[in-house]
Amino acid sequence: LVVLGIETSCDDTAAAVVRSDGEILSQVVSSQADLLARYGGVAPKMAEEAHSQVIDQVVQQALDEANLTEIDLSAVAVTIGPGLSLCLRVGVQKARKIAGSFNLPIVGVHHMEGHALVARVLEKELQFPFLTLLISGGHNLLVLARDLGQYLQLGTTIDDAIGEAYDKTARWLGLDMRRGGPALEELAREGNADSVKFSVPMKQHKDCNFSYAGLKTQVRIAIASKSIDPETPISSASCKDRSARADIAASFQRVAVLHLEERCERAIEWALKIEPNIKFLVVSGGVASNQYVRTRLDHIVKEKGMQLVCPPPSLCTDNGVMIAWTGIEHFRKGRFDPPPPADEPEDAVFDLRPRWPLGEEYAEGRSEAR
Ligand code: ATP
Ligand code: FE
Repeated sequence: LVVLGIETSCDDTAAAVVRSDGEILSQVVSSQADLLARYGGVAPKMAEEAHSQVIDQVVQQALDEANLTEIDLSAVAVTIGPGLSLCLRVGVQKARKIAGSFNLPIVGVHHMEGHALVARVLEKELQFPFLTLLISGGHNLLVLARDLGQYLQLGTTIDDAIGEAYDKTARWLGLDMRRGGPALEELAREGNADSVKFSVPMKQHKDCNFSYAGLKTQVRIAIASKSIDPETPISSASCKDRSARADIAASFQRVAVLHLEERCERAIEWALKIEPNIKFLVVSGGVASNQYVRTRLDHIVKEKGMQLVCPPPSLCTDNGVMIAWTGIEHFRKGRFDPPPPADEPEDAVFDLRPRWPLGEEYAEGRSEAR
């Protein structure tokens, strides 16, 4: 099988061609980082326009780099949710156009399932069931993947995701917003992680949920108390100012990740009661490209006698490979839609799922927490 994957759920326009043996034939990402940095966040209408401008070119490049044309494809996979509906629509329309013109089946993919399953492209040993921690700009999930399409959600965020906390902290520290997370990770290496005492979120809640809004507030207060001006870029900061910023970055990162560590430890205990044979913790989503996160979680996982699996950074942040691969997995099981009509009108109604939970909530979670 050879599948084209298309992803436009948020701020990156991505496409890739993947073969069912796991060979990645091409991978193209066009980022809206410049727009994001300029306007401080994703404005749906602007993001939609940016996707529309580049989608044809991104898909064409993915086919060209794979040395293929549409006729060589077995199916088209596309993200149908969760995400911004205006943005999702651009990708889905493109996928339907190709599938309609070339009579190809189409597979609608869950963006977060993509983040989780992409780990299976390179790690052939990774079989179901496994535990997964998905950490990105919009999600913070602990999910027990029991089988393809069978997910049990052990925990989620009650407010912000960790990636959002990284992005805001980076902004307040005057870092380059085109790459807020990675810039913060770098700055944190210069700082003392014990210098600012942030408290670890949700200590008193013995569950697997997350909260990052309170930590964001703590960071904002610390920044104000050290008279750091977010409008002054770090490149223009004095030596003393830079070191104060680095201390906040390091202290923030330590506590943000401690929260992940505590939740993962508990989730492993819960997961082993449900599926005694799990051996892997998969960590994916943009924040999983952070080396400090990987090192700390590796430690926890090893202590529990399990193995950590992290996709390479280019497969942790949004990409087309994860969508193509998840499409392949479902296609193999016969889960796909027939080709849409070749002459489908522009305003046709189709399935988009802007809000779409990944699997069921673990109902016993509440009693476990007691
Ligand atoms: P979602 O997957 O929830 O819809 P998204 O698609 O915007 O959100 P991803 O591309 O998966 O998110 O991840 C982007 C997030 O990852 C951003 O918040 C970014 O700051 C963060 N990130 C990327 N690299 C790093 C890093 N090295 N350290 C910390 N955070 C990082
Ligand atoms: Fe994502």
